[in-house]
Amino acid sequence: MTASPVRNSTAALQAADARHHLHPFTDHAGLAAKGARVVTRAEGVRLWDSEGKSLLDGMSGLWCVNVGYGRADLAEVAKRQLLELPYYNTFFQTTHPPVVALSEKLASIAPAGMDLVTFAGSGSEANDSIAKLVRYFWNLQGKPRKKTIISRNYAYHGVTMQAASLSGLTAMHPQFDLPLPGVVHVEAPYWYAHGGDLSPDEFGLKAARAVERKILELGPETVGAFIGEPIQGAGGVIIPPATYWPEIMRICRQYDVLVIADEVICGFGRTGNWFGSQTFGIQPDFMTMAKGLTSGYIPMAGIMMGGRVAETFRSAGEEIVHGFTYSGHPVAAAVAVRNIEIMEEESLVAKAGGEIGAYFQDQLRGLADHRLVGEVRGVGMIAAIELVEHKPSRAFFDPKRNVGTQCRNHCFANGLVMRACRDVMVLAPPLSISKTEIDELVGLAAQCIELTARDLG
Ligand code: PLP
Repeated sequence: MTASPVRNSTAALQAADARHHLHPFTDHAGLAAKGARVVTRAEGVRLWDSEGKSLLDGMSGLWCVNVGYGRADLAEVAKRQLLELPYYNTFFQTTHPPVVALSEKLASIAPAGMDLVTFAGSGSEANDSIAKLVRYFWNLQGKPRKKTIISRNYAYHGVTMQAASLSGLTAMHPQFDLPLPGVVHVEAPYWYAHGGDLSPDEFGLKAARAVERKILELGPETVGAFIGEPIQGAGGVIIPPATYWPEIMRICRQYDVLVIADEVICGFGRTGNWFGSQTFGIQPDFMTMAKGLTSGYIPMAGIMMGGRVAETFRSAGEEIVHGFTYSGHPVAAAVAVRNIEIMEEESLVAKAGGEIGAYFQDQLRGLADHRLVGEVRGVGMIAAIELVEHKPSRAFFDPKRNVGTQCRNHCFANGLVMRACRDVMVLAPPLSISKTEIDELVGLAAQCIELTARDLG
């Protein structure tokens, strides 16, 4: 079948897209006027659009293409699995070799004690499932009042009713009459924006103790779980001070509150260990994983459990009435296993926590001298560049000026994908990026920050 060249012209694709496709997180009036960017292929760390323009993808898609684009290996594994067993479910005491292999593999790389996994199709579904499993756990424990989940401002946990409720980015709530009852939010460990005169370590303790205050206010007998991304990604790559997570662990253990680590971004090497929990000393009861699990080549998410949570479900003695048609899809599972093997064979996690991660962070720190840059922060292969109006006082721009969006637009125009979360420019390139490509990325970022500064006068 040959596609008509006219039908494939950028203008024709944009017109049909604007007419028939409702995009996620998109202003459609703006889209119809301008036309969507049409991305047609990718290789390594680079994307190409329908006009042949190339872009260095500093975001691994949406923080997910950890092994980089164009892995023929993953396509071959998927093809083989599609021919052998394209689909079968894991309901009603059924399994298949790819899902067994993946479950075993995940248990071998997860934090100690996490050895039970169930699957979903997306990070949102996985967090939604965890919220149900938290309820079920406490019901089985005979503590049916222990149900509230504490989350944080700036959190991003997805878009289903429950996951959007858990999210703390306030724009996600009013359009949909959220959050649902049973979710509360406390302050985030965002020192640069909210730390004031406190040192990062002092502020880390203060932010963690906001969780303790909330538990005591609600009554520990009503609080079922705390959920947090080890590093808050979409909220602006908020790196918690070193004091934060140990104090969260103390508090949650003291009041018997389950800890959910949302590893959708931090998982699979991003922070230099397999999971952000390992980087930050978190001992979670539940872990959410997606994105890097398959490097985004095919949708899949996992919910990992350990300790008494895993034991409680293993010995529930009744059918657990939960699961998706695509839980543990064989093609996705086969791709996930091979994806993890590629990471192992190429030492991508060790490189993110070692030479490549250190190089990426060092080179980016060089941008901190620019007058628009208040702070450069990051761990491993995730980083943020905070654009500010006045460095000494850490004063932000008026959000209406859309400084981050201006910078992001300069990036697109000059061949770099760097995302703006408010005026925080964020980066999470494939873990397979080379030092030469990091030089190119940092050079483009510097150029686009300077262009933004010139616009501002
Ligand atoms: N949790 C975190 C930390 C995320 O960053 C995301 C997506 O960006 C999600 C959950 C939701 O995942 P999905 O978009 O696959 O539903």
